[in-house]
Amino acid sequence: MKNSLKHQLLKRTLIPLIIMTIILVAVSISGLYKANSDQVKEELIRDADLAMYVFDTVYTGEYWAEDADGDGELEMYKGEQRINGEATLIDDLASKLNIEITIFYKDVRLLTTLKDADGNRAIGTNASVIVKNDVLETGNSKFYSNVMVYDAKSYAYYEPIRDDEGNVNGMIAVSRSQESVRQKMLWYSLPVLATCIITAFIIGYVMVYFNRMLANRISKMGVYMKTLANGVFDEEMPRDITAKDDEIKSLANDGKRMARAIKTLVEYDPLTALYNRRFADRKLEDVRVKAVEMGIKYCICIADIDFFKKVNDTYGHEMGDHVLKEVAKKLKEGMVGKGSAARWGGEEFLLIFEQRELDIARRELSMIMDQVRTIWVPDSDRQITMSFGLTALEPGESVDSVLQRADANLYEAKETGRNQIICK
Ligand code: GH3
Ligand code: MG
Ligand code: MG
Repeated sequence: MKNSLKHQLLKRTLIPLIIMTIILVAVSISGLYKANSDQVKEELIRDADLAMYVFDTVYTGEYWAEDADGDGELEMYKGEQRINGEATLIDDLASKLNIEITIFYKDVRLLTTLKDADGNRAIGTNASVIVKNDVLETGNSKFYSNVMVYDAKSYAYYEPIRDDEGNVNGMIAVSRSQESVRQKMLWYSLPVLATCIITAFIIGYVMVYFNRMLANRISKMGVYMKTLANGVFDEEMPRDITAKDDEIKSLANDGKRMARAIKTLVEYDPLTALYNRRFADRKLEDVRVKAVEMGIKYCICIADIDFFKKVNDTYGHEMGDHVLKEVAKKLKEGMVGKGSAARWGGEEFLLIFEQRELDIARRELSMIMDQVRTIWVPDSDRQITMSFGLTALEPGESVDSVLQRADANLYEAKETGRNQIICK
């Protein structure tokens, strides 16, 4: 079934779960990126301070630059020491801290670990305009999480360098390329991603398992209800349905009760609580088949209350009903273990004797007749009696044929004095 409960439950479970997982992964990873970026910022600020401190300790004095030899290139000094061209200290520091370090005079790189693809240092190149405006112009330090540092997107921290008068005459920059940070981030993200996905799988599996169990029980209940609808009421309720004391079990029980109520309406006569004519017809057909196929012997009897019209006329219709119920009770009790009794018409009844020869059935019927004779219309001198037409079902004969014979016998019983059994 395309729109089965199983599929509906599956959709309702998995779609929210997938959405939740995606949101969870997105939030975790973006949080992780933020935390990592904050950490990089802290490290770069510390590294910049450290580099400043090291330079100040090793070379005393302030930074200054001049083009003394007039070749168009500035030479940079710190105190007495010329520091450009002297890259050992900066290189060691940068490789230990795993960062790039640059010292600017104004916005020009004079001392740097940055190199191009051929290994040439980026000496003499300029800081980007943004950095120039943000740091050199204002004299404030600044952190960038995404800035171009000599053609590589980087995290970078710029700190202004001041001379003795407090004028900004350069910057120190420490940076780390985004590429190197991203690599690290990937390693941090993988466990988060894996945990989210594995957890989602486990939750999904458990949900699907329980939903499937529920859907199976409901589908089994559907099958069970169908058997009830087909009039099979003796079918045992499948185990899965009764496994849990919940709404499904109670629904199935209601279904069973409803089916029984319908069966009662369809098969029983409301006044006498005996089987009705509809059921008796089915039963007779059943009996006919069994007699042929299994060789079972049956006897059929039609019984009619004598002078019943007079009971109605003399004592009223309600008293008539009361007598009908009393007669039905005697017939039902009398047929226990012998076969079945049904209300065939107004005050006519059909008795089916099972697995009996005619003479046995006759003897049993005469006892039933005696029982009927014990019924009296209350507070009166009217005894109730019945006439009976009994006959054996011949194997292979039709239901109509056996009924005609029983009817003829009943007619004869009526004609020849009533309150008797005619058996042929
Ligand atoms: P007979 O001995 O020849 O059978 O006489 P009878 O009076 O019993 O026969 P008849 O067929 O003339 O009358 C049957 C009466 O049964 C007629 C009808 O009013 C009555 N009857 C049928 N069904 C019911 C019922 O459900 N309740 C009551 N109170 N009377 C019923
Ligand atoms: Mg009658
Ligand atoms: Mg009658």
